[in-house]
Amino acid sequence: MPVAAIADYDDNNIFARILRGEIPNKTVYEDQWALAFHDINPQAPVHVLVIPKGRYVSWADFSKQASTEEVAGFVRAVGTVGEMLGLEAPGYRLLANAGLDAHQEVPHLHVHIFGGRKLGPMLV
Ligand code: 5GP
Repeated sequence: MPVAAIADYDDNNIFARILRGEIPNKTVYEDQWALAFHDINPQAPVHVLVIPKGRYVSWADFSKQASTEEVAGFVRAVGTVGEMLGLEAPGYRLLANAGLDAHQEVPHLHVHIFGGRKLGPMLV
């Protein structure tokens, strides 16, 4: 069920549980700001999710409430993961669904990284 763009943070959402180590994940990168792990249902040869460690539902509240340090740390983590996965030269796509119209399903901010093949044009 998609979630609203701005809502109270649910500490039992699946990514909160992954952050607490209650649910296993295939981690590709972790630092003080972010955790990156393989999507359970990959839509491309490389499909990794990067999530901030803070309690943010989506870009809507992250962009307003996160500190400058958190925003910078998270953005740098996304870039680091793209580089670590060897996607910088061939290229990759970032996607962040925010809210109902975008079909955001997990109510913890996440950026999808897609790559590993030539991707199709953006469809909206
Ligand atoms: P959204 O539609 O919210 O942007 O994307 C949520 C993503 O989370 C989907 O691509 C889905 O496959 C992934 N996902 C949902 N549950 C889990 C899980 O338990 N583990 C992992 N690794 N990915 C998940």
